[in-house]
Amino acid sequence: MTSQPPRKRIALVAHDARKADLIAWIGANIGALDGHAYWATGTTGQKVRDAHPGLEVTPLKSGPLGGDQQIGAMIAEGRIDLLVFFVDPMTAQPHDVDVKALTRLATLYNIPMACNEATADMIVSSPHFAGGYTPRAANFSGYETRKV
Ligand code: PGA
Repeated sequence: MTSQPPRKRIALVAHDARKADLIAWIGANIGALDGHAYWATGTTGQKVRDAHPGLEVTPLKSGPLGGDQQIGAMIAEGRIDLLVFFVDPMTAQPHDVDVKALTRLATLYNIPMACNEATADMIVSSPHFAGGYTPRAANFSGYETRKV
């Protein structure tokens, strides 16, 4: 394990029914979350900015319009350290395939990913969050050199 700068690059996404919960979670953890850099799907990002103007949030496209895919691309490019994605498991989403792609890429690239509040609480209170921590880099050499 090597160290990385403590300023983390954090992606935020919340389905509509979970946006208020994400805003409240950020408020409850603002001490730990302040000072990091944020990217968010469009509507989530706007709401986070309105509620917490001190956070440096870059809104991307709205999730159903490609925002989840934008975050997935950032993960594939090594530009995101943590994904906080408050999922609504009770509502069908028009962009379900994009949601699946995003969570797949976070898994593939070994990015910490909180899909509910309890996991987000665990991550933000972890010494790894406050200190330097770099997850083991995903190694795709076996895949990249496979015979096809
Ligand atoms: P939104 O997208 O922040 O633009 O609402 C979130 C989502 O992917 O559902």
